[in-house]
Amino acid sequence: MSRIVVLGMGGTIAMSPSASGGVVPALDASALIAAVPELAAHDITARTLRSLPSPSVGFDDLAALAEAVRAEVDGGADGVVVTHGTDTLEESAFLLDATLDPGVPVVVTGAMRHPTAPGADGPANLLAAVTVAASPEARGLGVLVVLSDEVHGARFVRKTHTSSTAAFASPGVGPYGILVEGEPRLRRVDPVSPRLPVPATATPPRVGLVTVSLGDDGELLRHAAPALDGVVLAGLGAGHVPEVMVPAVAETAARVPVVLTSRTGGGSVLRTTYGYPGSERDLLARGLVHGGFLDPAKARVLLHLLLADGADRARVEAAFAAYR
Ligand code: ASP
Repeated sequence: MSRIVVLGMGGTIAMSPSASGGVVPALDASALIAAVPELAAHDITARTLRSLPSPSVGFDDLAALAEAVRAEVDGGADGVVVTHGTDTLEESAFLLDATLDPGVPVVVTGAMRHPTAPGADGPANLLAAVTVAASPEARGLGVLVVLSDEVHGARFVRKTHTSSTAAFASPGVGPYGILVEGEPRLRRVDPVSPRLPVPATATPPRVGLVTVSLGDDGELLRHAAPALDGVVLAGLGAGHVPEVMVPAVAETAARVPVVLTSRTGGGSVLRTTYGYPGSERDLLARGLVHGGFLDPAKARVLLHLLLADGADRARVEAAFAAYR
């Protein structure tokens, strides 16, 4: 029997109604397991690391999580499941993917409906996540995200809906697989595994995420830039900004790494198609880093990890190039 460790971080999957109204994190990881009788078929150890709504998960919490996962794998776990709030689940899963060895399955899951809501999805998601984590098919794929009987790669998955139980998708790429009658059916996708160090918490870099919109004249970026060690631009379309914003972008890129991504939610930033001021050609020629297929939130996590490790511009370019 596989030995699976479940690490609890909080989120809706672990929430209960509070006296003051609304649901708040309340249940520990053992309670989540006890609520799913089918999990008795597995050898599971539960540990609660945090009890947080995921908007309040920070890089220091993720450093602790990555260390905990690594310790469980070193201690002989055959698979690790992380239960996490869905709001920032994609960023946490991606950080684990960029820092851990892709060998032993690490599966992140959560729930869109809290445990006392009709049709709560947490128990089914937890059972599916444990099943995937125990599956030899899941080995070597990197960190996986399992919800709604779909198995996604951490570098592609996003939360795409505020409340649907089918909120998670990998736009343009699709999931790595699904569970059929409780059995994972997965395709092989080579992991990208930079195995970056888990960041120390003392002096974290400040990486800003700036979403570009119609009429943006760059003033917001100009004001924020002096406080930043790096910037991710969520550009228009295939990686564009209004012409009037170009000077602010260029000034920032002369000082700190600026990674060019797209706000569209799917596909890669282009490289050679458009030639007008503010196009991808123009911005890349001004020294912006091509963000590849990474969406803005994941690009921000990767830039954070790289800067925390003291990476220079060449290393930042090389790391992002792996995600093309
Ligand atoms: N707001 C919740 C959280 O991210 C949502 C969820 O877990 O589904 O903690």
